[in-house]
Amino acid sequence: VAVAETDLRRALVTAGRDLYRQGMMPGACGNLSTRLDSQRVLITPSGAAKGRLRPGDLLVIDLEGWVLGGEGRPSTETPLHLALYRRFSGVAAVVHAHPVKATALAVAHRPIPVEALPEALFALGSVPLIPYGPSGDAAYADQAAAAFEQADAALLLNHGALAIGRSVAAAQGKMEVLESAAAMALETDQLGGAVALPEHEVDRLRALWRHRRGESAGHL
Ligand SMILES: [Zn+2]
Repeated sequence: VAVAETDLRRALVTAGRDLYRQGMMPGACGNLSTRLDSQRVLITPSGAAKGRLRPGDLLVIDLEGWVLGGEGRPSTETPLHLALYRRFSGVAAVVHAHPVKATALAVAHRPIPVEALPEALFALGSVPLIPYGPSGDAAYADQAAAAFEQADAALLLNHGALAIGRSVAAAQGKMEVLESAAAMALETDQLGGAVALPEHEVDRLRALWRHRRGESAGHL
């Protein structure tokens, strides 16, 4: 539907500008995508500054990565986005960014102590560490997507962060929660380290996350 596509193009452009202004997508770093329908995805072009994107700059691709519309090449991280859409039918948007604090933890191979952060637990479920892999590698993309069975966000070791959601705004929000959790983890380190919530509270918040994720078909 034409109107829906116009709205989705605007939503991606707006999210890209926000994330750029927040310092999460410096230069041409980062990429965003959203589902147009069950077979097609709208994605940012390779090498584009996300702070200056226009709705017409976005490419339409199929779930195998073939370009159906638009100029230029799709993001180099396209296989990562598509692996998530193929694995989880409920995923409607994917955001990959390099937020400074989350990426610092990813570079240091340090997990975010989500068991001490109720907001992160409730919003993200968990934050797995995904081993480093080359951009655009299909096997790596599948391995990375598998880490999202129990999570809505992850750290990409020596690289950055990845978040998924039911909408562009939701995936953007997950990325913001992730960066906030990373900032708290770093601050907490100055104070001697995070103190985990009681186990029953961790279990309760994880169950709430699982419930929300399971509500729509395709477990998201
Ligand atoms: Zn990246």
